[in-house]
Amino acid sequence: MPNFLFRRAKVAVRTLALRAATFRAAAAAVVLLSLSLTACGGNASGTSDSDKPVVLTTFTVLADVARNVAGDKLTVESITKAGAEIHGYEPTPGDIRKASKADLILDNGLNLEAWFGQFVEGLDVPHVVVSDGVEAMSISEDSYQGKPNPHAWMSPVNVQIYVDNMVKAFSGLDPENAAVFKANGDAYKAKLQGVQDEMKASLAGLPESQRALVTCEGAFSYLARDAGLKEVYIWAVNAEQQATPQQITRAIEYVKAKQVPAVFCESTVSDAPMQQVVGATGAKFGGTLYVDSLSEADGPVPTYLDLIRHDAELITKALAGTSTATPGAKS
Ligand SMILES: [Zn+2]
Repeated sequence: MPNFLFRRAKVAVRTLALRAATFRAAAAAVVLLSLSLTACGGNASGTSDSDKPVVLTTFTVLADVARNVAGDKLTVESITKAGAEIHGYEPTPGDIRKASKADLILDNGLNLEAWFGQFVEGLDVPHVVVSDGVEAMSISEDSYQGKPNPHAWMSPVNVQIYVDNMVKAFSGLDPENAAVFKANGDAYKAKLQGVQDEMKASLAGLPESQRALVTCEGAFSYLARDAGLKEVYIWAVNAEQQATPQQITRAIEYVKAKQVPAVFCESTVSDAPMQQVVGATGAKFGGTLYVDSLSEADGPVPTYLDLIRHDAELITKALAGTSTATPGAKS
């Protein structure tokens, strides 16, 4: 399993052993499953309580976008749950069982789901990369230098391309409802454009000296580009979220030099490294941003449109100094 063994040396050997065990178990489950399907001559499509085709996405953001396109014509589910880390996720035997019953699998691509190739290997289910056609930005730091930044959905304009890819894929899956998917997709694309315009207008009000977005993961490149912000981060991709002292020092030096008023971290990782930056600089902790996962339905970002609105508002308030999230340590 070479895809797993490329993990950095700082990842404990124990973790690798656990991952190997997970995959051995998962592979065994697939064998058992295909045996049982053969034995009962089972139909691999649909769920027990619905005849609708099943679309399985890798994470919650894609599931929400896909539901907006699918309407009530398809059943859309996410492999990872709300709040889960996506980059280094370890699929369970249950995930593989679910995937083998799906009619279509959607992944983000751009190396977001490091585990995906191994996950779909051996499954007889079509999959579509929804970021196809997006102009990828490159990562400029650390060992990921030159690789595509996977977080293309942080630009709602890019998500319009995701929607086009979904309309095409769903129409292939369920041709009778092609017109419905097209109409749903067009309506949702208008909402995406609306939230993009809102986000840009909200962040456009920040003065030049406060236009720096300092986060844990380098996940905001597309949003920062669209909004005209300088992006600074501790680590490039969450697959290696144990920040090195050098990475923390780099962020501290930037925050001090530019007198950045507030810094942020994301919902799916520990904010401890960023709290170190806060402690060393006097910048405020601006709050929790959402990027790699939606929240639960009763949380702050149950939908993708909520995610963009929430992040834009939090960033604007904290950098403009009007946030009440954390008492200011800065004099
Ligand atoms: Zn990420």
